[in-house]
Amino acid sequence: MIRLYSILYGCLLLCTSCEEKPEFVGFTYPEGKYKALILSYDDGTIEDIALAKLFDQHNLVGTFNLNSEYLGTLRGWPQEKGDTIYQKYVSKDSLLFTYKNHEIAAHGALHKNFIDITDKEILDEVNIDIQNLTKLTKRNIISMAYPFGNTNDSIAKLIATTQIINARTVDDTHKFHLPNNYLIWNPTCHDSKALDNLNSYLTLNQPKLSLFYVWGHSWEFADKNRWDNMVAFCENIGKANDIWSVGNGELTQYLKAIKSVQVNDRNIVNPLENASVWIKLSTGIVKLEAGKTLNIKTTANTDSRAIKP
Ligand SMILES: [Zn+2]
Repeated sequence: MIRLYSILYGCLLLCTSCEEKPEFVGFTYPEGKYKALILSYDDGTIEDIALAKLFDQHNLVGTFNLNSEYLGTLRGWPQEKGDTIYQKYVSKDSLLFTYKNHEIAAHGALHKNFIDITDKEILDEVNIDIQNLTKLTKRNIISMAYPFGNTNDSIAKLIATTQIINARTVDDTHKFHLPNNYLIWNPTCHDSKALDNLNSYLTLNQPKLSLFYVWGHSWEFADKNRWDNMVAFCENIGKANDIWSVGNGELTQYLKAIKSVQVNDRNIVNPLENASVWIKLSTGIVKLEAGKTLNIKTTANTDSRAIKP
């Protein structure tokens, strides 16, 4: 009789431990969010100061792509019709104040058009920009926006040899998906169309990682109507507590971290050198720190497709 009890008790324990193991559902962004926002702004002109402040007011994070050789200068840009537009660039010693809460990224030291120059000139444009910005900010520069938005597969491969891990084009997708190639990153839309897409993103409710990627130039906000639209956009999206506002570099690192996590039919292993990742289990959202393992219930759904973001 005692033996029967012990067998029954053993089975009970076994079943209880089975039930305690959760099922893997998928990866989320931090805090279990599925939506993210990138605000990426080019050139580093002094109008960035007001824009960065607007982002600060609404707890939004910008990614500012700077032409480091122009910092602190006034430069004339000849236009096709013969007139010249003058741009004033933020000063070198103000970067850590202006962009305190934002990512600082590269945009080519001199804003040369990458499709018109040699591979060596492209690498110089990128690497000199990285060196200058690193020296001025002591930050790790890992993001970039292509000058004039121009790139192609061979340029992207060249960029992959530098420390840059993501680079943005200006080819708007009007979609909220993540890119296939982080070095040819097509955004959702220019900020002039951001309000048009706002409602669709605020109401989007799907358990799948998505991204609203807005880009532009702060100097375009000399147009009052455009500035007012940007204020309205920031006010509205800043209130959404289910959207992760993040720099392009941090998002890219997070997506790479997810891809490094090993999910098999018994456990989830986050490698020691990886960042923390957030996971949805059948029992809820958990944060899995680097070097930790989670035991999960064996399930037919835990295949390789389920682990891709
Ligand atoms: Zn530019």
